Amino acid sequence: MRRWSELAERVAGTTRTSEKTGLLADYFRSLEPDDLPIAAVFLTGRAFAETDQRATGLGWATMSAAIEAVSGADREALGQAYDRYSDLGLAVADVLTGAGHAPDPAVAPTLGEVAAAFAAIEVASGSVAKAVIFRDLVARADPATVKGIVKVLSGDLRIGLREGLVEAALAKAFERPIDDVKRAGMLTGDIGRTAALARDDALGTAELTLFHPLKFMLASPAEDAAEIVRRLGPLVWVEDKYDGIRCQLHKRGDDVRLYSRDLHDVTSGYPEVVEPARGLAWDGILDGELLGLRDGEVLPFVALQARLGRKAPSAALLAEVPVVFVAFDVLGLGSGGGAAVKPLLDVPLEERRRALVAMGLPLADAGGAFALSHLASADSAEALEAAFSEARARRNEGLMVKDPQSPYSPGRRGYGWLKMKKALATIDCVVVGVEVGHGKRHGVLSDYTFAVRDEANDRLVTIGKAYSGLTDAEIAEMTRWFEAHTISTHGRYRVVEPTVVVEVAFDVILRSARHRSGFALRFPRIARLRTDKPAAEADTLATVTRLFEELQPGAERLVTAGARAAVVPPVDEDATKRRDSGRRRPA
Ligand code: AMP
Repeated sequence: MRRWSELAERVAGTTRTSEKTGLLADYFRSLEPDDLPIAAVFLTGRAFAETDQRATGLGWATMSAAIEAVSGADREALGQAYDRYSDLGLAVADVLTGAGHAPDPAVAPTLGEVAAAFAAIEVASGSVAKAVIFRDLVARADPATVKGIVKVLSGDLRIGLREGLVEAALAKAFERPIDDVKRAGMLTGDIGRTAALARDDALGTAELTLFHPLKFMLASPAEDAAEIVRRLGPLVWVEDKYDGIRCQLHKRGDDVRLYSRDLHDVTSGYPEVVEPARGLAWDGILDGELLGLRDGEVLPFVALQARLGRKAPSAALLAEVPVVFVAFDVLGLGSGGGAAVKPLLDVPLEERRRALVAMGLPLADAGGAFALSHLASADSAEALEAAFSEARARRNEGLMVKDPQSPYSPGRRGYGWLKMKKALATIDCVVVGVEVGHGKRHGVLSDYTFAVRDEANDRLVTIGKAYSGLTDAEIAEMTRWFEAHTISTHGRYRVVEPTVVVEVAFDVILRSARHRSGFALRFPRIARLRTDKPAAEADTLATVTRLFEELQPGAERLVTAGARAAVVPPVDEDATKRRDSGRRRPA
């Protein structure tokens, strides 16, 4: 593990992509067969492969308590170190070094032992049992190694590495075509397994497997109809954008399972879809959206929220918020025996849709549990605007515009799909700090400071602060979560583990030196929690910049009401810097 941590350090030390790939390739080649998959998975900032259902469930409170116990350092020192680095791994290493933590190198944990400890932490029940295993690991590892362990556990490597780079390094290490590596990665959803296949020259054997969720294809945001036609045109497909819960349905015989956007098995939460699906005559994988639908009426997302995370919904809840599966894609169909299914990922959307329609899903109109997404085509900005208004009239969120020739690209946010949302723009941000509220919100952590991802510099940059628009129950639940995941406290303000994503609505994007991002939002409000999105998928500074430019007055816009951009007069930068030293003291 020590070598892995050193490698991570060296990768972080260069900004040149080719150097990063070269370092990784040499390292991969040097590993023992058993270590290669573990090292590759860890390098994507995960304790387990992405499609693996396991999670260690180890929070910062448990980790920091273990580090205190081993080193004697107090929690405040850890919090202060985090404020200096904004990086849990660096903070921990710094505190352990300061405390003279220097275990005998003879007991240093190997990669395999770290992986085994993560697996043991996952099965251990309760934070005390988990803490014991973690503490043992920390006790045996020197500060540089613990840094690596904590980075993997917190899912935040910050070494300028994306999965694509790890794939490129595997291709280089074992001299395989990059497209073969990517394809295997897409099918297995497990970079560790892909690494082993690359080494064994067996990439061609990767199969699309039922009950192994595929990463979802994502859409890029767009506000401007003309831009959409320019990018995807002349003829584009438009589907309603349903305000529901993204879902992948896998089926073989009467075995049916549903997976959420973060690839978790959510089957037990939606019996009204699962039970009727069991009897259908095909085996395969569908992509779609679970949507609240009662008496033919689409229910608003707030109603559907009651179903989120419920493992065993009550009969009353099922009656009050019934859902259907709105199918918009088919990713694999017809099994050749076993768990493998024929992939349809590379065939154009046009053909996939034909296959989907031919499946004869039992539709809600006729009492079934399915629907097909509303589909039309458009060949001009005007036609798109008309389609947008019609989708809104059907009480849907907006449009998904798709290129009928596009393949299904798991995990990619490309330009094959573009989303056109509501009148007011929203962005998905990561909560980096929280404060107790005022008045009725006194005593709960209801004021959030949030950030977007600055991809170029691999960091989060603040963009605003808002009073939570969440329900009292959600605020109470989030208060408990934030209390358990506080990294440091500064008076009323707490720096928290940057993992919670919220969708923030606003009226105007402003250029402003008040926040690290260089932008501020006018009238920001928290529209909803995005428990389905990891922080790595929050919106980026590049998206904010593009929205700012697109929303400039005068630019042709799909939506005339609401979102627009403005430039505010320059502000006294020193004053704002004093007020806003990044995460620590938000404006
Ligand atoms: P957003 O969550 O705002 O990033 O928008 C992307 C999400 O829109 C997807 O993850 C889906 O959950 C959802 N969506 C709704 N309708 C569709 C559709 N017809 N095609 C694809 N995605 C859709």
